[in-house]
Amino acid sequence: MRAITITPGQPNTLRLVEDAPEPPEAEGAVLVHAIAVGVCGTDREIIAGEYGEAPPGTGQLILGHESLGRVIEDPTGTLQPGDLVAGIVRLPDPVPCINCAVGEWDMCRNGLYTEHGIKARHGFARERWRVEPDLAVRLAPALESVGMLLEPTSVVAKAWEHIERVGVRARWEPETALVTGAGPIGLLAALLGTQRGLEVHVLDRSVDGPKPALVADLGATYHTGQVADLDFEPDIVVECTGAPSVVVQVIDKVGPTGIVCLTGVSSAGKQVGVDAGALNRAVVLENNVVFGSVNANRRHWTAAAVALGKADLRWLERLITRRVPLDQYADAYIRHDNDIKVVLGL
Ligand SMILES: [Zn+2]
Repeated sequence: MRAITITPGQPNTLRLVEDAPEPPEAEGAVLVHAIAVGVCGTDREIIAGEYGEAPPGTGQLILGHESLGRVIEDPTGTLQPGDLVAGIVRLPDPVPCINCAVGEWDMCRNGLYTEHGIKARHGFARERWRVEPDLAVRLAPALESVGMLLEPTSVVAKAWEHIERVGVRARWEPETALVTGAGPIGLLAALLGTQRGLEVHVLDRSVDGPKPALVADLGATYHTGQVADLDFEPDIVVECTGAPSVVVQVIDKVGPTGIVCLTGVSSAGKQVGVDAGALNRAVVLENNVVFGSVNANRRHWTAAAVALGKADLRWLERLITRRVPLDQYADAYIRHDNDIKVVLGL
């Protein structure tokens, strides 16, 4: 069986292993024939040796956390052969903490969770993989060409759920949402915003390429330039760039009783000048909320599957700007101009 592996902590050890072992039954009752994995910045960080952890007792990590496959067998009867599924990335910590104990492993408090293809658990970039039935999420058969978008969609489904949970602290009738960054997370966040009936604005650096039309075809408005120059104050901001200057500007820009959800992971060390007193004053006097959001639990994966099912399939297919066959795997992990989502076939 073929698999994409790296040696954690050692840069540029990415390779295609031809004789990887079949997934052991200990990895789960459901055996899945892989169709594809999506590639993201986390994969590139792992390849660069900055991140990633091999399963205990092994020196290699099989990559891949944005999965899609077809069930070969499930002896528990939960899933049927042929079902289109994605595997949930994070598994609860073994202690477990109070959140993992109730299935909210996305909110793990002790950091002892494991993650397929990232942290102490092999990923899905192999021809066959196994998961337990409660960690497989079924997709509508029509989503075969785009189902690997379920993982990034689960991340934005969680972000939107938490925005709404914050929103109901008081009377709340949001009208406008600003999404900063038109990568896969930003575009999917915009999709879920339009599905909620909001007036959605997306701001990105790109002045050409596929992003402006993708935003327009959602019925949303595309902007470039500075957040500070926008001529409206959004009720909701979903920040997907992680760029420090953008983060500071959206906290300042959001309207009264506004909610800013930060989803981008910044690198440390970049400093931007901030008038912390003015920023604090703006947040306090307007009852604003700024919060971070990462990962997703099963409830969010299920919501994401519903959201993809309601979306325009052709629009989702346009998010996938390159499909790379397995024998050219290395190219899937190299960024090209105008890439949005790159998918590696298995
Ligand atoms: Zn936990």
